[in-house]
Amino acid sequence: MSTPKIGVIGAGIVGLAVARRLQQKLQADVTVVDKEDVVAAHQTGHNSNVVHSGVYYPPGSLKATLCRRGVGLLRDYCTQRGLPYDELGKVIVAVRPDELTRLNDLAKRAVDNGIPDTRVIDRAELREREPHVEGVSALLIPSTAVVSFPAIAREFARDITGAGGEIRLGRRVVGIAAGSTGVVITTDTEEMTFDHVVVCAGLQSSTIAEISGAPRDPEIIPFRGEYYELVASRSDLVRGLVYPVPDPRYPFLGVHFTRGVDGHVHVGPNAVPALAQEGYRWRDVELKQLWRSVSYPGMRRLARHHWRMGTSEIAGSVSKSVFLRRARDYIPELAPTDIVRAESGVRAQALKPDGNLVDDFVIHHRPGITLVRNAPSPAATASLAIAEHIVEVYDRSRP
Ligand SMILES: Cc1cc2nc3c(=O)[nH]c(=O)nc-3n(C[C@H](O)[C@H](O)[C@H](O)COP(=O)(O)OP(=O)(O)OC[C@H]3O[C@@H](n4cnc5c(N)ncnc54)[C@H](O)[C@@H]3O)c2cc1C
Repeated sequence: MSTPKIGVIGAGIVGLAVARRLQQKLQADVTVVDKEDVVAAHQTGHNSNVVHSGVYYPPGSLKATLCRRGVGLLRDYCTQRGLPYDELGKVIVAVRPDELTRLNDLAKRAVDNGIPDTRVIDRAELREREPHVEGVSALLIPSTAVVSFPAIAREFARDITGAGGEIRLGRRVVGIAAGSTGVVITTDTEEMTFDHVVVCAGLQSSTIAEISGAPRDPEIIPFRGEYYELVASRSDLVRGLVYPVPDPRYPFLGVHFTRGVDGHVHVGPNAVPALAQEGYRWRDVELKQLWRSVSYPGMRRLARHHWRMGTSEIAGSVSKSVFLRRARDYIPELAPTDIVRAESGVRAQALKPDGNLVDDFVIHHRPGITLVRNAPSPAATASLAIAEHIVEVYDRSRP
């Protein structure tokens, strides 16, 4: 078989992992294109940096399968490259007795998904691990780790260029057309022709899908996640990772405490609508994108069903004291002076026309084009496994 020439749109962790895998498995001639001047500029560079164990996802789903496989691949990769991979361990904390049923369900799911050494601990053991955290019980997942996803993405980029691939930054893709002689990508500066194109465009996935002739659904809705950070003198309030019991009605995990590889402890993220596809602050408003989101039928249904939750999240966004009150459910001694605002991230979350958020990863395979349509958390954790999956499906479909 001849060497395939493949274009990858998006130099986030998923696009870079895919490009690297294409080189390794198929000796492909790859070109990664991104509109920004650096790799990992969006979700990959603005997230919690947690290697998720896979406890939350329904067994057999792509998220569960690829997350579990991804954890092992990522751990090995970081070890080989000398990149930080700190297994600090995580506690999912029930603060009220009515959360215990859901906590026990999660414990069962941990077993179903093959997560090692996970167990329910009582209040005394929780206090031993996290002396400042209050709760009635917790699920302990010792293997949950923290990393630096931007550093991993940069290392992937070095692998790609080291193996002869190209990364063309500062080029916005504005057109994709699949024809009999290949797939033509048009950027604001040039045209490139490939045998196959893989789109890993994160927040722009549905826009790019549409310009390639694919259906608009599922539409990507941007949800900003805002963080605070513990001031250095109070960072000892948290030793590892402290999470709430998630509400199964929402795809986001709720405000949590995460000690990073640099020792900084982040509190968050919340989930508020972003007013631009890459809207990191309330004042980032992009009217065309905003209209695209609000005029999508699923958006109105989503707003109708979840207006109460949405209002409460917005309250926590605009008022530090509301945000703090929630964080205090877990660390009662937290004072207003203990936390300061930190950078936020924007999640690309796919929404169906019926108003339901798409829970699982979604990857569409079409002739000439593979479209990653939904790669929210834990896609950074699962990136190496997502790449294996995409390349395997593409390889099987080759003439
Ligand atoms: C607040 C937050 C917390 C999270 N926490 C975690 C976590 O702890 N663990 C975890 O596993 N996951 C987490 N995630 C999810 C994780 O960050 C994403 O799933 C992952 O980064 C997705 O990678 P990606 O490559 O698909 O997207 P991105 O990193 O967003 O990359 C997409 C790229 O496509 C480029 N692009 C878009 N349009 C165009 C165009 N027209 N032309 C050229 N280039 C284009 C963009 O510039 C961008 O660089 C979190 C996400 C957020 C936002």
